[in-house]
Amino acid sequence: MARPFASSADLDEKTDTLEVLGDGVYALTAEGDPNVGAVEGDDFLVCFEARATPYMASRWLARLREHTDKPVRYLVLSHYHAVRTLGAAAFDAEVIVAHDQTRRLIAERGREDWASEAGRMPRLFTGAETIPGLTWPTLTFSDRVTIDLGGDRGDLVLAYCGRGHTAGDIIGWVAKQRVLFAGDLVEAQAALYTGDAFHTDWSSGTLDRVASYEAEALIGGRGAVARGREAVDAAIDQTRKFLTTMRDEVGAVHRRRGTVREAFAAAHAALEPRYGRWPIFEHCMPFNVQRLWDEFDGIDWPRVWTAERDREVWEALGA
Ligand SMILES: [Zn+2]
Repeated sequence: MARPFASSADLDEKTDTLEVLGDGVYALTAEGDPNVGAVEGDDFLVCFEARATPYMASRWLARLREHTDKPVRYLVLSHYHAVRTLGAAAFDAEVIVAHDQTRRLIAERGREDWASEAGRMPRLFTGAETIPGLTWPTLTFSDRVTIDLGGDRGDLVLAYCGRGHTAGDIIGWVAKQRVLFAGDLVEAQAALYTGDAFHTDWSSGTLDRVASYEAEALIGGRGAVARGREAVDAAIDQTRKFLTTMRDEVGAVHRRRGTVREAFAAAHAALEPRYGRWPIFEHCMPFNVQRLWDEFDGIDWPRVWTAERDREVWEALGA
């Protein structure tokens, strides 16, 4: 029997868990669904990630409002993916911050990505009718932006660490409390999605820069919060290992001029024992291998995923 497309059959509701990671630092994790967070300034909030729909975002905001009623001044989008951005309207933020490349990617492929992600992960798009359209950042940057949180709260640093999960991922660093919001650059016990990634950069210099913060707590894109230096390093190492294993396996098949289907089988077999039970592993692998294969073919800028191309790659590799 054919395997259901991507996460289209994953319809069981997940449990959200709100964690307070220090004075005014919040993370909402959801058993492998996309994580979100918030940092309190003296008289404002910075929210990190928007969720896929305003309806889903309002459920997160209701949890956050149990702790603080400060207005949202900044909404930070770690990258362009629809499940991170399309819920932005719920925040009523003064400023929507992202990387320059994120704005470029939304303009280039935001519509296609919306259709692709809604088809792959319908459960995350609960309340899809509340999405008013694409989310456009109102402040973008190339290297870093520092937000003074006010009082003795210190700075929130938003920084680019190099190409990784997409061309424009940024991290959020709560300097005083040494808490790092890593977006999808790091996953903790959740599979990586690399369909729009730059595997070589991500697995080397980019993750080196993420690790150089030596965070005491790290909120990845999906999965549990990593608490403590050891757990933070383990999450980064596990992310790197996923990438290097894929590069080794797909690269070997590519060098001997094999087929992408053989590369998929090799990468799947190598990763499955360690990562196979993690959320979205089976969903992601066909798209991951196809993108990495393209990268080895010399296609630097990732091809656009459309709902139609998703199905073709799934038929070829995933079904
Ligand atoms: Zn993503």
